[in-house]
Amino acid sequence: MQSHYPVVIAGGGTAGLTVAAQLVDTLDPSRIAIVEPSTHHFYQPLWTLVGGGVFPKEESRRDQADYIPTGVAWIKEYVSAFEPDQNRLILKNGDILTYEYLVVALGIQIDWDRVKGLRAALAERNGVCSNYSYETVDRTWENIRSFKGGVALFTQPSTPVKCGGAPQKIAYLADDYFRRSGVRNNTTIKFFSGMGSIFSVKKYADSLMSVCRRKGIETYFQHELVEINHRQKEAVFKNLTNGEHVTVRYDMIHVTPPMSSPDVIKQSTLAAPTGWVEVDQFSLQHTRYPNVFALGDCSSLPTSKTGAAIRKQAPVVVQNLLAAMEGRPLDAVYDGYTSCPLVTGYGSLILAEFDYKLTPKESFPFDQSKERYSMYALKAYGLPAMYWNGMLRGRL
Ligand code: FAD
Repeated sequence: MQSHYPVVIAGGGTAGLTVAAQLVDTLDPSRIAIVEPSTHHFYQPLWTLVGGGVFPKEESRRDQADYIPTGVAWIKEYVSAFEPDQNRLILKNGDILTYEYLVVALGIQIDWDRVKGLRAALAERNGVCSNYSYETVDRTWENIRSFKGGVALFTQPSTPVKCGGAPQKIAYLADDYFRRSGVRNNTTIKFFSGMGSIFSVKKYADSLMSVCRRKGIETYFQHELVEINHRQKEAVFKNLTNGEHVTVRYDMIHVTPPMSSPDVIKQSTLAAPTGWVEVDQFSLQHTRYPNVFALGDCSSLPTSKTGAAIRKQAPVVVQNLLAAMEGRPLDAVYDGYTSCPLVTGYGSLILAEFDYKLTPKESFPFDQSKERYSMYALKAYGLPAMYWNGMLRGRL
């Protein structure tokens, strides 16, 4: 079957729904289609606090149908190929969808199989967990809650990930919980990262390194998790500076898996050599296909991949898309703004906000590199409400 819509949005996650909600203010909704296979929408930033036992995972999940703007067509399928030279998408069921304008918002792909043994380890209840999927996030809390002491490992890959700060946040919550449950004295916490430092912005990195020192968390940079032997409870890391492998025994391990652009994008001409959708970093228009825009985790934008970044990207896509449709110049500009609420314990948080130049762009009239309860309350209670009632409704 073949159908046509003037505007097609591929992916109805944070970015796709936010763009749709804003577009319907101007465009007749019957001119827009969203291609999204999932029955549910997830507020993924909550998964850090779900892993830390603050919320049940169900709190992060809502029906997708309730967030597709009224009148917009929801095509409940996967995109299986992009054919931008023919202005069309091929869907998994073989249908063809043609468009005049396309917004690509497919998110990031979790490459579970790039860590040998990880999938098998996650299939069993044996101290291995990950906040990076709805299916595995509650396992994190099970592990932290039942931990009786020993070695607790937390990992971050060298690839871009969604929310660059999330891999360390869960280590801080675990440390806090282990102190409350009385096992911290017989526990060693190690944070292994494939990155060169704890955070990309020096102001926040300095604060975070002092948090690690205060909490007694050992940090190892340029170390990439490559294998888990869950029967022996051993994790194998590759030292990225000399290529050597280091084996570390654990009693629990929280894994942030490697991530990359979705394969369907990598295999298309929309992709930059890095695999991400190749867009101009200021206008968010594709560099080779002027009727294509992209935003969010699947885009080539050189900033940290977060929902907060999408809040600033979406109005730029919407304004520039409408301008392109009307033949006007594309005036809206995105400056790389992104934000990372770095939870440092139950009731404390450093709110990092910065732009392409890694210059802090803080919203509040105080030093956000200091740990504060007010910022923790914002993350736990304020931002979820703003997300569901504001951002996804086109109001922020
Ligand atoms: P997504 O929201 O992931 O949406 C992509 C959509 O595309 C999905 O609905 C998917 O079903 C769909 N899709 C995929 N493949 C196809 C296909 N082939 N065809 C059609 N549709 C497809 N951000 C913050 O701002 N602050 C935080 O504190 C924060 N913490 C986080 C903590 C964790 C543990 C995690 C996992 C994420 C966190 N994030 C945070 C990041 C944030 O959730 C993401 O950056 C954001 O959701 C990305 O939005 P997106 O629309 O690009 O991708």
